[in-house]
Amino acid sequence: MTAETPRPGSRSLLIAGGGLPSLALALALKQAHGPALAVTVIDPGAADPARHRGRAYALAAGGRRMLERLGLWARVADAAEPIAEMVISDSRLADPVRPAFLTFGREADAERDDGEPFAHMIEAEPLAAALAEACRAAGVAIVAAGVVRALPEGAAIRAALTTGETLRGDLLVAADGARSRLREAARIGWVGWSYPQVGIVATIGHARPHEGRAFEHFLPAGPFAILPLRDGGPLGHRSSIVWTERSDDAEALLSGEPDEVLAEIERRFTLDLGTLALEHGPSRHPLAFGIARAFRAERLALLGDAAHVIHPIAGQGLNLGLADAAALAEAVTGALRLGLDPGSPDVLRAYERARRFDSFAMAAATDGLNRLFSNDALPLRLARDLGLGIVDRLPGLKRFFIGEAAAARDSRPRLMRGEAL
Ligand SMILES: Cc1cc2nc3c(=O)[nH]c(=O)nc-3n(C[C@H](O)[C@H](O)[C@H](O)COP(=O)(O)OP(=O)(O)OC[C@H]3O[C@@H](n4cnc5c(N)ncnc54)[C@H](O)[C@@H]3O)c2cc1C
Repeated sequence: MTAETPRPGSRSLLIAGGGLPSLALALALKQAHGPALAVTVIDPGAADPARHRGRAYALAAGGRRMLERLGLWARVADAAEPIAEMVISDSRLADPVRPAFLTFGREADAERDDGEPFAHMIEAEPLAAALAEACRAAGVAIVAAGVVRALPEGAAIRAALTTGETLRGDLLVAADGARSRLREAARIGWVGWSYPQVGIVATIGHARPHEGRAFEHFLPAGPFAILPLRDGGPLGHRSSIVWTERSDDAEALLSGEPDEVLAEIERRFTLDLGTLALEHGPSRHPLAFGIARAFRAERLALLGDAAHVIHPIAGQGLNLGLADAAALAEAVTGALRLGLDPGSPDVLRAYERARRFDSFAMAAATDGLNRLFSNDALPLRLARDLGLGIVDRLPGLKRFFIGEAAAARDSRPRLMRGEAL
């Protein structure tokens, strides 16, 4: 057991789940409060960075500012590629060319006051490693176990672990992923469904540079995204693909030899990036929509995918989780600075108020986009083609794609604005 024993009079926070948003929350709070707050992350994978291998995420500007504020950006910048431009096409697989319906990046940058890129593609393994290392250095305890039960008991909550031990905290954060056992045990309702699609993720090596350009082809089976990674690998350049396919077809498409799988990828790729090679993957991920009916219960806060699961069409799930972490860190900090209980209903209400609308708006918008684009019906094709024309003219809608839609800049949590807690 590596959990630190809380000092008399100090407060204690338990986090079940060691995904990226959880580690960011643990680090932010430990940096802000030091020995006055014991922070323990509990995860059977003990936040092992290797399980993130081959994954890369579009990190919106708010998340990057948060990493910078936590002193992490300089450590992970080598694993991040700025997205200079995003090009979106609406086409069928057999179409010889895929004209762009919507492009943004350069003009979106021009709208910004600081000129920072609207997003970076960041590799998850180095990010997880840097977060875990910074957490340990700051004094966060990381425990290799699962939480099997949570029992609120007056002014505390007890977490029973798979090891047979019990930890006590003022607040337990349930960040145990989309199928959160703690959410269910707390009887928090869930509105959600599975999509008849899977997300296929792979790293593709290519001989020609991508020049920081990201592409998303809306094909009838779902979006096929090509996202620029830092140069490297045997061919010199790399991109990550997120390929949404009908679940019924995915098995056949992926069961062939690696060169057959690569040929399927090339059919969808269309870009001329020279010779292609499969460098990592493909891995398959079930896709679902879901949002919790409440983000809190007695001495319990839901965070990340435990609170909301969205389609990866706009690459925003992790960004929502980071915004949760920033908002919860702010609510807890507000209470601690006043000497108040960080697990009180007031703190949890403030957190829920800050996050629920934003999460619901993003979940509903991504669901609507997926329904609109993932089919081949002519009236819908016309409607969405007109829709894209409109999107191209409305900066507000573009901001949705770049992860800035739901909350006005000033109302976002301080860490997402790059400010101290
Ligand atoms: C194909 C695909 C592409 C995506 N692309 C992007 C993107 O470009 N940008 C973006 O922002 N988002 C993206 N996302 C979303 C992103 O992956 C998730 O939103 C994010 O990883 C969720 O993090 P989390 O920590 O909440 O959950 P998870 O990463 O699922 O972590 C949950 C953790 O809880 C632990 N756990 C489970 N049960 C217990 C228990 N009982 N006790 C203790 N620990 C437990 C697990 O071991 C795990 O470590 C994508 C998702 C998919 C499927």
